[in-house]
Amino acid sequence: MTKILLALTAAALLTTGAFAKEDKAHWDYDKHGPANWGQFSETCKVGKAQSPIDIVSSSASSLDTKYALLLDEKRSTTAKVYDNGHGIKIEPKDGGQMAFNGVEYKLLQFHFHGASENTIDGKQYALEAHMVHQNKDGGLAVVGVLFEEGKNNPMLDNILGSVGAEMRLDPNDLLPEDTGSYYHWEGSLTTPPCSEGVEWFLMKTPIEASKDQIEAFRKYYDNNFRPTQPLNGRVIGSY
Ligand SMILES: [Zn+2]
Repeated sequence: MTKILLALTAAALLTTGAFAKEDKAHWDYDKHGPANWGQFSETCKVGKAQSPIDIVSSSASSLDTKYALLLDEKRSTTAKVYDNGHGIKIEPKDGGQMAFNGVEYKLLQFHFHGASENTIDGKQYALEAHMVHQNKDGGLAVVGVLFEEGKNNPMLDNILGSVGAEMRLDPNDLLPEDTGSYYHWEGSLTTPPCSEGVEWFLMKTPIEASKDQIEAFRKYYDNNFRPTQPLNGRVIGSY
């Protein structure tokens, strides 16, 4: 029961960026944008381990335990695709899972930001997908996948054509071939309430989407990204 409640709470938080005072203005990326999110959740303003971040590749500490992160996302599942007011979000029925240093997490949902939220050596990518996972104690882990302009991505066409409906998909199609090379750090949700204690993973290899697909996504939401936040001494692991 606790597990279900935690899952529901996390799902609600991630879906709506919910805060108690729904009668007040809601957060967005415009008038009530990132610089003002402190009015929705204090953590957004005073948190010391916030996401997203800029990764300075030369100062990330190299770790050789290449398979600390195990991704097991290959599934054929139905998924709900919808526009939640902040981005396009997909909730697979059976979303696959991941493990980090032996702790298992289940995939709850994934969604898109354009342009990317995390940057590498100051470079911002065209899009970033966030695969949000949760462990049995409610702890969250997000796997980020960067997109650069290139060839057409069939999964994105299906997603764009299914907004407000259901589709079949394999979450594994969102991952690059090499999932053993990634950055890892401790961060937060990138939307209010900006809660911390989130394990972050960013795939080093971007995947491709066509120019048309990138534009189509950004027609829904242009600039639904939070600017990068100070590291405050956090160490970034490079695998
Ligand atoms: Zn996100």
